[in-house]
Amino acid sequence: MPLRVAVVGAGFSGAVVARELAEAGHHIEVFESRDHVAGNCHTRRHSTGVMVHVYGPHIFHTQHERVWQYVQRFGTFEPYRHRVRAMVGDKAYQMPMNLGLINAFFGTNFTPQEAEAFVASRADASVTNPQSFEEQALRLVGRELYEAFFAGYTRKQWGVDPRELPASILARLPLRFTDDDSYFSHPYQGIPEHGYTPIVEAMLDHPNITVHLSTRMPRVRLAEFEHTFWSGPIDAYFDFEHGRLAYRTLDFEPEVVTGDHQGCPVVNYCDASVPYTRITEHKHFAPWESHDQSVIYREYSRLCEANDTPYYPVRLVEEKAQLLEYVQLARKETGVTFLGRLGTYRYLDMDVTIHEALNVADAAKAAIAVGRVIPAFVVDPLA
Ligand code: UDP
Repeated sequence: MPLRVAVVGAGFSGAVVARELAEAGHHIEVFESRDHVAGNCHTRRHSTGVMVHVYGPHIFHTQHERVWQYVQRFGTFEPYRHRVRAMVGDKAYQMPMNLGLINAFFGTNFTPQEAEAFVASRADASVTNPQSFEEQALRLVGRELYEAFFAGYTRKQWGVDPRELPASILARLPLRFTDDDSYFSHPYQGIPEHGYTPIVEAMLDHPNITVHLSTRMPRVRLAEFEHTFWSGPIDAYFDFEHGRLAYRTLDFEPEVVTGDHQGCPVVNYCDASVPYTRITEHKHFAPWESHDQSVIYREYSRLCEANDTPYYPVRLVEEKAQLLEYVQLARKETGVTFLGRLGTYRYLDMDVTIHEALNVADAAKAAIAVGRVIPAFVVDPLA
């Protein structure tokens, strides 16, 4: 028997679950509070002709063959290698940390082995079990590199001292002793030829799917559906009864310039004295296109207020305790599954979001087949 299913949110989480269950014969209604699909991955062509990543840089990279195959069903991905420069003072360095950065920063001409031995000699060996971002950085690269490249940027990005942040945030960045300056190491990398929005539109383009844009769906209105997949904020589902989970939001200061502003897609500004964290130059996300003009975004990070767009879940000790309260409430609900960055309050890359949404759909299909209840979570948000 086909089920009537509500999906809240039309980002990658919602679109993948909707598509998978629609293909399994169920009837899906997708409710999206914004006036566009694709969530924070949304892209739009600017009047200059440049494809703009409206909510900041999104680069697709994955180690999951299944995810890579899956997204390509819905559009063409162009080969793309992400490159970032980091400004410290008035000098630009390759980022993530590699041989080029180490030699430029210390004024040396090390071989890979010499650089590795040198960084090891600067690293703080007294840190054995790093808990915080700062401890992790000191253990890995030592105080000079930490202060120059991580301390200021991280304070601006997260609004707290790096001693209060978990070590896992730094684990996102590699440390290399070669001249490889590709930002990501995953085997599959690319950017959709026409941006992300048409990919999500294609996922949602199915006879069993109806999409309602600009439609906020409170919990009470979901009763008419046999199951709901909620990829909106978990605290919003419960009307913030345990308070608002903290997020960082971003403000972008756009500017149109002629020619090429910075020669690469993203330049990080690591000094605490520069108020923005980075400048994104969008046309470099589409090197297969050519534009005379250029759109740049200066990016500022701050605490997310009630009417702002949430970006990065803060997840410090206090927020984790609050999250636990929501998870306990969610586990008592029947007929709803929480997923995605906002539904599970985790810092997720696009590919992980899609991978988890496919797993959620698999678990749902398996449960429906044997008449079991679809679980509230397929991934533990507290893990
Ligand atoms: N980071 C930093 N300096 C940099 C780049 C990154 O201190 O030049 C830190 C910062 O805390 C950031 C984290 O590393 O939040 C992860 O960086 P990533 O580039 O993955 O951030 P995203 O693009 O997801 O905002």
